[in-house]
Parts: sequence; C-alpha cells; structure tokens
Amino acid sequence: MAKRALITGITGQDGMYLAEFLLDKGYLVFGLIRGQNNPKRLIVEQEIPKVELIEGDLADISSLVEALVYSEPDEVYNLGAMSFVALSFKQPELTGNITGLGAMRMLEAIRIADKAKKIKYYQASSSEMFGKVRETPQTELTPFHPRSPYGVAKVYAHYITLNYRESYDMFACSGILFNHESPRRGYEFVTRKATRFAARVKLGLQKELAFGNFDSKRDWGYSGDYVRAMWLMLQQDKPDDYVIATGETHSIKDLFDLAFAEVGIKDWKPYIKQDERFMRPAEVDVLTGDYSKAKKVLGWEPKVSFPELIKMMVKNDLEIEAKKKD
Ligand code: GDP
Repeated sequence: MAKRALITGITGQDGMYLAEFLLDKGYLVFGLIRGQNNPKRLIVEQEIPKVELIEGDLADISSLVEALVYSEPDEVYNLGAMSFVALSFKQPELTGNITGLGAMRMLEAIRIADKAKKIKYYQASSSEMFGKVRETPQTELTPFHPRSPYGVAKVYAHYITLNYRESYDMFACSGILFNHESPRRGYEFVTRKATRFAARVKLGLQKELAFGNFDSKRDWGYSGDYVRAMWLMLQQDKPDDYVIATGETHSIKDLFDLAFAEVGIKDWKPYIKQDERFMRPAEVDVLTGDYSKAKKVLGWEPKVSFPELIKMMVKNDLEIEAKKKD
C-alpha cells in the first residue's frame, strides 16, 4: 500500500519540492489549497499534476478535519503560513491566526480525526524564532527571542507542537529551518529579489532597485535539500526537533556579488536605491545554524552550496525575464 501525505502550503517552494520528493518515493500526495480561484493553483497543477488538491484553510478547523478524513494521510506536513516577515508587521493579526493558530488547528484536527493515532505530523518551525540571537551558532536548545509578529507566531506554533506531542503522545516533529531559497522562491524575499534584479539589469529591463537594510546576514540553504530533512524526521522511531541549516553565514553584499558575477557585472552598487519602505521596525541581524544533531541522528547534510544556489536562481531568472523581453 502506498503511503499517503497531506501537505499544507502546497503552493509554496517547500510544498512543491516536498510533493515531488514524496511522489518519487511512491507516496500519494494531497495538497491543501486555500480560497476561490487561487492563482497559484494552476502552477501546482501544471508542474506537479499528480498532486491531488483539496480545498481547505488553516483558518477553518472543520475544513482541516474534512481534509484528513478524505486523504487518510500517514504523514501531515504543515508548511502553510503567512511567511513573509515584512508583511507580518502590517498584518499581525492575520499572521497570528494562520502561522500560529493554524498549527494548533491542524494538531487539534488530527487529535479529533485520527483515533488510531497513526498520523505523523511535521511542523515548519523557523530560525526567525531565534531573532535577536542569544548565542551563536543556534541549536535546538538556544532560547528564542523573536523580532517580528511572524517570529512570535512561529514560536507559538513550535510550542503547541511540543505540547501536543507531550499531552497526547502524538508523533509530532518540529523542524527549525533556517532561510532556504530556490528558483521557486517568492519574489518578495531578498534572494529572489537580488537574482531577478541581476537578470533584469543584464537584459536591459531595469536600472534601479529600491532596497532596504544591507546589514543583515543569513544562513541560506536550498529548499530542495531541506524538504529531505522534513521527511527524514518523520521516519525516525521517536518524534523530535531538529535545526536544519548550512552552518555558513553570508551577507546581503555576498548575495549581490554572486548574483551579479553570474551575469558578468562587477559593480552593482550604482543600481541600488535605499528605500525606507523596505526597512522593518525590528531586525534579525545575523543567523547561523548548528545542524549537527540532524547530521548525527538523521544522516542529513546540505548538498547545494550558497554560490551554487544563487547561480541556479540567476539562471532561472534569466530564462524567465528573457521571455518577457521577446
Ligand atoms: P527573512 O530572514 O525571513 O526576513 O527573509 P527575507 O529574504 O525577507 O529578508 C532577509 C533580510 O534582507 C532581512 O534582514 C531584510 O530586512 C533584508 N532586506 C533588505 N532589503 C530587503 C528587501 O528589499 N526585501 C526583502 N525581502 N528583504 C530585504
């Protein structure tokens, strides 16, 4: 019998890479999709037609119970969230409701619907929980100090996952994933903003980029590597929490250097315009993850390096933007 998985956040980069990964392993994959005429629905249907989409919303618990009853999953991956930090400052209530309470609703739906207690649950926790970091590098035991409504909501989701594991003996895991990117990353995130801009400057489509704070540093990995870690967590004998990261930190300047080197432009600074609109009320300055527990227990390691990742993203953006030029 094929294993069955239900993924929330199926239209995001992780949802899509995870769906492909699980389909390759012979899983039947169901994806929860929100709203009427969701424009991202078509992308999933075209790129991964084998995924069966189920309508439902993390804001509506009965739709989650229905989705579980219909899909009868062995594994649930809760990747759905309002995931953009900058927007979370503008819509803190929505962020708390979906990113925070959404996880509780899914856990509650599982508790109610899964009487046989067969479902394994994965919670997408985030390095944003570390925020104003208390120590470097950050491990599973580093205290949290979130710096945005998004980070705060993720802390709630993280602890409610632990709480359901302890209270109801659920197989519930939490992956504390550091920033991870890919050609499927949304355009609002800094890596994609940089790689698309490099491609557009090269093609003569754009000359200026309004940009925020240049001082942040991140531990950036590849989404395609990170979804493998999610699956590995659910294949263990016991549920646990794991940091998933590369252990390397890069600056935004490194990011732009690499993206522009890929299109053969050395000095990108004249193209950047500092813009207050992209500044955040509070910042996460620097993140570095220690993934040694994941390496030891799961045998997981990242495969794609930061330069390889940026190269892959620029190549993809050159192809996309070149089509617009025609
Ligand atoms: P985050 O780590 O989840 O917030 O990932 P992002 O890719 O959204 O942002 C990474 C860092 O880049 C943050 O410190 C942002 O403040 C910084 N940054 C500076 N300018 C921009 C910008 O124009 N867009 C985005 N998304 N981030 C920016």
